Amino acid sequence: MPVYDLHTHSTYSDGTLRPAELIARAAEQGVDVLALTDHDSTEGLAEATAAAQQHGVRLINGVEISVTWSARTIHVVGLGIDAANPSLQNGLAGLREQRAERARKMAAKLEKAGIPDALNTVSVMAGTEAATRTHFARFLVECGAARDMQAAFKKWLGRKGKAYVSGEWTELENAVGWITDAGGQAVIAHPVRYKMTNTKLKALIDEFRHFGGGGIEVATSSHAMHERRKIAEIAGQNALLSSVGSDFHTPGNPRIELGQYLDLPAGCEPIWNTWRFD
Ligand code: AMP
Ligand code: MN
Ligand code: MN
Ligand code: MN
Repeated sequence: MPVYDLHTHSTYSDGTLRPAELIARAAEQGVDVLALTDHDSTEGLAEATAAAQQHGVRLINGVEISVTWSARTIHVVGLGIDAANPSLQNGLAGLREQRAERARKMAAKLEKAGIPDALNTVSVMAGTEAATRTHFARFLVECGAARDMQAAFKKWLGRKGKAYVSGEWTELENAVGWITDAGGQAVIAHPVRYKMTNTKLKALIDEFRHFGGGGIEVATSSHAMHERRKIAEIAGQNALLSSVGSDFHTPGNPRIELGQYLDLPAGCEPIWNTWRFD
């Protein structure tokens, strides 16, 4: 059985490994099929494609799109996209502008709270890409304003944090539309993380399917086994394909590794059953 990991990040969003380093690590970990799914960007895919050829890893072109749905942030992963698709690229460019705008607002809040220079430092960290809250969290840890990443989110960047600014992302219909326009499959990322009621999750799934979405992440690092079973059941009831992805960002977390700890409960229809490799 091939090993799949269909949700990962590189330095082209908030990961710490370059695409080539990520692919090399995936090969070491025995991953056969890897999707690079950076936040609102496909800029890492060119480097990843070359590295994947070199290491004998099959690369799936991916992206993780930020969506505002029912006054909350939802992530939609796109798998098998044509990164050259203009409607997808226009959409992602708009999201990156939103990110830049939000970064300015977060930095202003930090400045007021006595923490200067966040925007400069975070911009340097993010390089050519738009800043994420992860970059802000690393900055806050480095300057001593937070003990660790968890604390940075709790005290500063999370919903109740002092520098919180809610992202104004795209609509669900747009995200799913861009992905399917680009020939890809849309997947609801880490559904358990949204802490929705069953009714709310059902409403999300109904809309998502209505717009052309077809998959849901069942096995991902933030889902415990009992949560995977619950989502697997919901996937079955709603005719959604099951996806698996570590959501790997950086080495060093013993519970999050490329291609590891991604067992699907029995009875799932894996999304790759619909794929034809040639
Ligand atoms: P953004 O899309 O810029 O709002 O940033 C969201 C990213 O922050 C997620 O993709 C995670 O990588 C990261 N993140 C969110 N919450 C936490 C947390 N409590 N601890 C560490 N990283 C987090
Ligand atoms: Mn992230
Ligand atoms: Mn996510
Ligand atoms: Mn992710």
